Amino acid sequence: MTFHPSFTRSGLRFVSRDSVGRRASLHQFTITEHFRTFRALVTMKVVVVGGGVVGLSSALCVKERCPQAELTVVAAEFTPNTTGDGAAGIIQPQLWDVTQEELTWLQWTFDHLSRLYKTEFSSQIGLFCQSGYNVFDREVPDPPWKDIVHGFRHLTGEEAKKFPGYSYGWFTTTLMLECRSYLPWLTQRLKEKGVKFEQRKIASLSEVCSDYDVVINCCGLSARTLLNDQGVKPGRGQIVRVHAPWIKHFLLTHNLSTTYYNSPYIIPGINVVALGGLNQLGDWDEGWREEDEKKIWDGAVEMIPSLKGARVVGKWTGLRPVRERIRLERDTVNDTPVIHNYGHGGYGVTYHWGCALQAAILAAKAMDYIAAKTSSSRVPKSRY
Ligand SMILES: Cc1cc2nc3c(=O)[nH]c(=O)nc-3n(C[C@H](O)[C@H](O)[C@H](O)COP(=O)(O)OP(=O)(O)OC[C@H]3O[C@@H](n4cnc5c(N)ncnc54)[C@H](O)[C@@H]3O)c2cc1C
Repeated sequence: MTFHPSFTRSGLRFVSRDSVGRRASLHQFTITEHFRTFRALVTMKVVVVGGGVVGLSSALCVKERCPQAELTVVAAEFTPNTTGDGAAGIIQPQLWDVTQEELTWLQWTFDHLSRLYKTEFSSQIGLFCQSGYNVFDREVPDPPWKDIVHGFRHLTGEEAKKFPGYSYGWFTTTLMLECRSYLPWLTQRLKEKGVKFEQRKIASLSEVCSDYDVVINCCGLSARTLLNDQGVKPGRGQIVRVHAPWIKHFLLTHNLSTTYYNSPYIIPGINVVALGGLNQLGDWDEGWREEDEKKIWDGAVEMIPSLKGARVVGKWTGLRPVRERIRLERDTVNDTPVIHNYGHGGYGVTYHWGCALQAAILAAKAMDYIAAKTSSSRVPKSRY
């Protein structure tokens, strides 16, 4: 069964199709209906905890669809000090273990960015199109997202021979989004819409619950301490950025005996090329390690020898907020609706807009319920 989202005049529409493409069922999320009810009744106070790519995009999705909400973003750190600021920004999810829901979030993100790509903002927000290689040490099945990115094809035997130690591969074209440019742009758009920003570290979600009607929790890796979610752990990465304008394609190597992103990758950005290939699970060290730098260099130069002389222009360490699955659901803390949106691992840029849209739907439902409750005390709990 596949799940096809599309935007309609009245909201979001999903059509499920069975394996031979027959339409099986149709679900309609009438976002505008929820907001219309809510808008007529009362202005709600909404807080987004987290100023990373997930928090800011969630804030924008709520604000664009619900202009009357009084929205505040509270975060300990904002751009340029969030995880996304250092990420390479390739739009590509995990290879095979992708749920139907994640495919939908990917599709929404891809569609949204494809629309932005056609606007005059594209270069300002660090958005561009790039082709490149995923190479493997053995033959592998195709990924479930092969029809979402563009031009998916298998490498020919001759092409695969270019990459020592890798015998099989795919060539695709995808979008790239550099958060160092995108996050300032999102911040500016939110400020223009009257969203307030507060820089502070909170000790628990209940700290904000008493002051707001709805909380949207996008605290990334901090969910481990803020919510005691032991399923969240760091996936430590190091990136060396080099000046190498002759590199025009991304190269992601996959050694199937290790976890994702634990073998060399080379990803060109708009101005510099990111070299990486570490995903150290459970490692909280944000300091730079020489031995890891050597590993990254050795791996990159083995793949593309011309990188040997490339000038280093930046070094960055980041912790991916790894979780078995992204947590995107409604919860209640001290009687306040809380929408969780965290645990995006190495794919937060890839899924950000789809998840933000889904969080906005959940927030709208919560606000709609509160508004209805305000006007009538006889709303059935089941609508909550
Ligand atoms: C080396 C590396 C490379 C990557 N490359 C890619 C890539 O190419 N493509 C891709 O899709 N993804 C990539 N990622 C993953 C991506 O960067 C993350 O998934 C994404 O940035 C997570 O965003 P977030 O907003 O959830 O978390 P964060 O950016 O970590 O933001 C969390 C926010 O919550 C705030 N916060 C936390 N605790 C508190 C508190 N107690 N009080 C107040 N505020 C709090 C923080 O200050 C911050 O503002 C990469 C990650 C790394 C480390």
